[in-house]
Amino acid sequence: MKNRKITLSESEIPENWYNIVADMPNKPLPPLHPGTLQPLGAADLAPLFPMELIKQEVSTERWISIPDEVRNIYSIWRPTPMFRAYGLEKALDTPAKIYYKYEGVSPAGSHKPNTAVPQAYYNKMEGVKKIATETGAGQWGSALSFACNIFKIECEVFMVRISYEQKPYRKVMMNTWGAKVFPSPSAETEVGKRILEKFPNTPGSLGIAISEAIERAASDENTKYALGSVLNHVLLHQTIIGQEALKQLEKEGNMPDIVIAPFGGGSNFAGLAFPFLRLNLAEGKHIRCIAAEPTACPKLTRGVFRYDFGDTAGMTPLLPMYTLGHNFVPAPIHAGGLRYHGAGAVVSQLMKDKLIEAQAFNNMEVFEAGITFARAEGIIPAPEANHGIACVIKEAKKCKEEGVSKTILFNLCGHGNFDMQAYQDYFAGKISNFELSSKEIQDSLSELTTPEIG
Ligand SMILES: *Cc1c(COP(=O)(O)O)cnc(C)c1O
Repeated sequence: MKNRKITLSESEIPENWYNIVADMPNKPLPPLHPGTLQPLGAADLAPLFPMELIKQEVSTERWISIPDEVRNIYSIWRPTPMFRAYGLEKALDTPAKIYYKYEGVSPAGSHKPNTAVPQAYYNKMEGVKKIATETGAGQWGSALSFACNIFKIECEVFMVRISYEQKPYRKVMMNTWGAKVFPSPSAETEVGKRILEKFPNTPGSLGIAISEAIERAASDENTKYALGSVLNHVLLHQTIIGQEALKQLEKEGNMPDIVIAPFGGGSNFAGLAFPFLRLNLAEGKHIRCIAAEPTACPKLTRGVFRYDFGDTAGMTPLLPMYTLGHNFVPAPIHAGGLRYHGAGAVVSQLMKDKLIEAQAFNNMEVFEAGITFARAEGIIPAPEANHGIACVIKEAKKCKEEGVSKTILFNLCGHGNFDMQAYQDYFAGKISNFELSSKEIQDSLSELTTPEIG
């Protein structure tokens, strides 16, 4: 029998997170204070985050040790399995060898608990009573609810309204773990009230929900804020994915030519790709790392690299990012986790330096890819993950045309078991492509008054 599943034992859960900043030829530019435009100090972030996470955010240490208590909780679902996608290879009749790392086995069903658990842990260590956050499709909100429940921290989640309506069971999941969930924009915050007055029918956006959660944390000294993507410490925590994947492929006696992951703010992409990029940076390997984003929200392929706010209201520090503009409200595609206007600073710098690649995929192609995968491999992927799969299929077909056998590794970052509405809409012919005109992108970018990067 051919070996389909490549597993590791619990003792092989990595002991360190990998911080790519240590190996980057150009370090990421610093975040700026929105008022003074000076580089941000630790004290500026202290109202929002516990000190240990702030230290990780600015760390240049290559390896950061994972606390035993966190590794112990990781062992509920880690190490996650890796699969050889024999079914997909056969369906595509490709000479490519396709492997995927499956993060859908976590309690919340995605990679998000990899960072939710250490974030809740460091908050607990510093005596924090409540954490406020936002969630797009609901995966981050459920992951943080799960983690806060373990450490007995209260959790409040501002959930983008369109997802709140499309994915009611994600909300119930959060409630089950004890969290409070508000549709965003909400009347719970001043920012929310202002936006509701101006746009009563808005589907909401991650940018708006972030503004609400930050307002909540900034106005109460016992409440901190947590972010599920974009920031350096979040990307850092996710690197256990790629470290495990590297060990698993070594067991197979194989190395990837191409590493692919869907891209929202960059955390699952970074998580899988950074340990492989380390081999490019430190050992002269040439592994292509490709971020797959939606054509409806194409910050890496069509955005600009400049300073921008992480939220809509302009309350966050200014981050150096590939962005479509913080006022950009993407079309309501089902891949809620990819509807974010910007990319994290580290990933943006790597993109700027051409050390990673990006490709955009249209909605129809993405769902067709997801269904091809589900029928070939059994697992029904999250709509976000389908973007990565569309990219895998494209690269695997290229291998067939060129008659070469490459090894492709991708991140199946979550299952789609709570996304049946999305699949139902696809089968009912209600999914359409969203192509943005250059004018729409220009209009959003022309509103920016934040500093440009030379
Ligand atoms: C949150 C999420 C994403 C997008 O966020 P990244 O930080 O880019 O990983 C993609 N897929 C799933 C399943 C998610 O939950």
